[in-house]
Amino acid sequence: MKYVSTRGQAPALGFEETMLSGLARDGGLYVPETIPQMSHADIRALHGLPYEEVAYRVMRPFVGDAFDDATFMRLIENAYASFGHAARAPLVQLAPGHFLAELFHGPTLAFKDFAMQLIGQMFEEALKRRGDRVTIVGATSGDTGSAAIEAFRGLDAVDVFILYPHGRVSEVQRRQMTTPTEANVHAIALDGHFDDCQARLKDMFNHFEFRDAVRLAGVNSINWGRVLAQVVYFFTSAVALGAPDRRVSFTVPTGNFGDIFAGYIAKRMGLPIDKLVVATNQNDILHRCLSTGDYLTDSVAPSISPSMDIQVSSNFERALFDAYGRDGAAIAQLMDELKAGGFHVSQGALEKLREDFTSGRASEVETLAMITRAHATMGELLCPHSAIGVHVAERHLDPAVPMVTLATAHPAKFPDAVEQASGLRPPLPERMADLFDRPERVTRAANDLTELETLIKERIAL
Ligand SMILES: *Cc1c(COP(=O)(O)O)cnc(C)c1O
Repeated sequence: MKYVSTRGQAPALGFEETMLSGLARDGGLYVPETIPQMSHADIRALHGLPYEEVAYRVMRPFVGDAFDDATFMRLIENAYASFGHAARAPLVQLAPGHFLAELFHGPTLAFKDFAMQLIGQMFEEALKRRGDRVTIVGATSGDTGSAAIEAFRGLDAVDVFILYPHGRVSEVQRRQMTTPTEANVHAIALDGHFDDCQARLKDMFNHFEFRDAVRLAGVNSINWGRVLAQVVYFFTSAVALGAPDRRVSFTVPTGNFGDIFAGYIAKRMGLPIDKLVVATNQNDILHRCLSTGDYLTDSVAPSISPSMDIQVSSNFERALFDAYGRDGAAIAQLMDELKAGGFHVSQGALEKLREDFTSGRASEVETLAMITRAHATMGELLCPHSAIGVHVAERHLDPAVPMVTLATAHPAKFPDAVEQASGLRPPLPERMADLFDRPERVTRAANDLTELETLIKERIAL
């Protein structure tokens, strides 16, 4: 199994190198050279299996010889053992023909745990085998950082440093990053905005002397290993509703396009998915692009669904690559134009994209109204991101095809917006009820590259 870059200039790599390197050397994103197929018989055989077994069967062909069968199964079992629900990604019904896949039963209460927990296991196994060690540095506006710290805490072959903007993440998100006690995890509160955190991270990757000295690695949402782990719950959800003998549609609250791209991979593998609906908040570059063909960046307007507040959507490049007939030079050209503000998708490519994707958006007012109505009439307390999904999904319902909306975070992770809309302050699940009593451990740092690099080197004792 080989992976190729969306910009056509980097060498093809196997699964392990693709996962460990993250970004391709030509600036592109890695995608599988060919998509493994599951027949209807293969999919039918998934009925009734535990989540871990489905995960194994769906992901196995992508992993190649990186892990042997027994090792890969063990990594999957370890990854999901900390989830608070036996089904891992349970479905609940919201309305006739409309279902919610609850992807928030992981240790940090957001869907990012599905990918991050598995990536943590796979990194540790691959690095130990190589006798290697890496330093993971990540920038977060909240959910990615907490999921990464939770996934890598206590592992031997990895140190993890997470930069978050001081005073600008929710208290639950902050405490999830600052309360783990393991020596290999380091939360850093940077004096600045999320953009500053991301800029310093980029600086570190471009500072080759530092990058090589600490063996810098990244686990941001463009890492192929993360996309792959997210393919699985499209299968478990669709199969529970009758696939492959019935088509199923999905609506996905979208920011960086990682989650919905995983749905596209599931479809390409043979899962009969009817529609993939991209749901955006007021930062709606993807909705505008799928509607008009213009992909034009704007400034980010902060919203009550902060994990979807994006200016550019990094994984969209993977969908464009296929829509342009896998022409790496054409993608490199578009990405150059993006640096100058945006690009226009060709008519042919736009038609290709629309064969798989459709889209909608929800305003702040619509999001709050959806939380209120879902609580009153559907028996479900939604986080703002999930509410955007449900709002948009309702505009794409088809009586002949069940719709699954992905619930991407637990309402307790965003209690202020949920309380404003519903009057209820959602409690944390029992297993983390003491989060507010645990001592915090965090390093405050200036928005300064040299200071950050010194701090990281000291901590890993170089
Ligand atoms: C990350 C995140 C999203 C967006 O997912 P993408 O894969 O970036 O499109 C949506 N909701 C929540 C709660 C998230 O944490």
